[in-house]
Amino acid sequence: MAFEYAPAPESPAIVNIRPSYGLFINGEFVDPKDGERFKTVNPANEEVLAEVASAGPSDVDTAVAAARAAYDTVWRRLPGRERAKYLFRIARIIQERARELAVLESIDNGKPIRESRDVDVPLVAAHFFYYAGWADKLPYAGLGPDPRPLGVAGQVIPWNFPLLMLAWKIAPALAAGNTVVLKPAETTPLSALLFAEICQQADLPPGVVNIVTGAGDTGRLLVEHDGVDKVAFTGSTEVGRLIAKSVAGTRKRLTLELGGKAANIVFDDAPIDQAVEGIVNGIFFNQGHVCCAGSRLLVQESVAEELLDALKRRMAQLRVGDPLDKNTDVGAINSAAQLEKIRSLSEIGESEGAQRWSPPCELPERGFWFAPTIFTGVSQAHRIAREEIFGPVLSVLTFRTPAEAVEKANNTPYGLSAGIWSEKGSRILAVADRLRAGVVWANTFNKFDPTSPFGGYKESGYGREGGRHGLEAYLAH
Ligand code: NAD
Repeated sequence: MAFEYAPAPESPAIVNIRPSYGLFINGEFVDPKDGERFKTVNPANEEVLAEVASAGPSDVDTAVAAARAAYDTVWRRLPGRERAKYLFRIARIIQERARELAVLESIDNGKPIRESRDVDVPLVAAHFFYYAGWADKLPYAGLGPDPRPLGVAGQVIPWNFPLLMLAWKIAPALAAGNTVVLKPAETTPLSALLFAEICQQADLPPGVVNIVTGAGDTGRLLVEHDGVDKVAFTGSTEVGRLIAKSVAGTRKRLTLELGGKAANIVFDDAPIDQAVEGIVNGIFFNQGHVCCAGSRLLVQESVAEELLDALKRRMAQLRVGDPLDKNTDVGAINSAAQLEKIRSLSEIGESEGAQRWSPPCELPERGFWFAPTIFTGVSQAHRIAREEIFGPVLSVLTFRTPAEAVEKANNTPYGLSAGIWSEKGSRILAVADRLRAGVVWANTFNKFDPTSPFGGYKESGYGREGGRHGLEAYLAH
């Protein structure tokens, strides 16, 4: 018998969303010079949340100039232990305002409050705490005796983990003595703007952090700006390629965190129930809007039937709906455009001959929704096995031997992450060694920690974020 759940909605009243936001430049909110604005909507009900400024060329100039001035006159001159105090202060304010940040993130992004509250926001605070600890220890980071900051970092981030991607970018940059201009994604600008208020609250010197909102054009203006010394980008491989081209031949340093099509490999000796939880977490966490999502399940043929039965039973228990309800497992798709992409790739999956299955599930009428879906009978040539869907869609393939599993797992242009499920430690180590992926999880999936480096191979990008390695991208040595 299925449990009935009473609604347990988190109140949106804790967060004050302003009707209109300016750009955050030199410690203040300012209007865009050409007056252009765009709307950000709640993907769970399509209601407009706020109007946000769109930064044009002269706005980006002003933001980069503010970051440069703050770098030259204040930030690079502060001893590491003083920079650390600001980062600790920011981390503590994030903890104090955690509920507000989590609610805002869920409203603007569509992700379940359970995730923004228990995963995103605690990790954001953890990143600032972690890098605060490094700020006065840079000579001991293994990057030479006197590592120096690069200058002004231009940072562009995607919409899937808006605040967490901001933390991955801003915390190490500031700890290393750089100043930043960050552009959040156009569909999820609000938590970055609340972060700007937190910078004010922390008395961060003006110009150390600047936030310019806008779409791809604003991002392009920022990464191509002559006054930027370092470009850090997280987003699609397609845009990453454009940025790599525009930065090539300049003195700018570049890190790219791009897409993925991770294999989650289940061997016949894996504990099935535990693996099922890992598969669900791997592909349905954050509606599958995860660069390192376990979107290709590779299951050993001898246990495939048993595992798929258990997976379907588990999927039937997933609760899809209101992101602010604490019972919700799967929230809204972030935008109409993303929903269209997921729908069209899923239709292609069917037309190429794979079998599609979703549990019975009632989707809300308004908003952008997609039921958790699996495809079986998938071959390596199918587009749903090759392309990043970036949604709650799992492609299931089978294998007979470990060698076949490794070959199939590596048969992708990407190389961001992978998962291995087995009782046998020696098998896990042997297989992990042969996987071309930046992160390999063993008997778990989608686990993040600020001390651990994260990044890709091949078309998943280059450079590492997180850990000691994450400092290297912001230091000359
Ligand atoms: P996207 O590339 O379309 O956009 C990312 C950001 O780049 C946005 O802020 C966008 O406005 C900006 N942008 C667009 N065109 C630009 C241009 N020409 N120059 C500069 N900036 C530009 O990606 P998305 O759809 O927002 O995000 C999803 C993608 O991000 C997926 O492919 C996912 O795998 C990837 N991602 C990677 C990681 C990682 O760490 N590797 C983490 C999260 C997401």
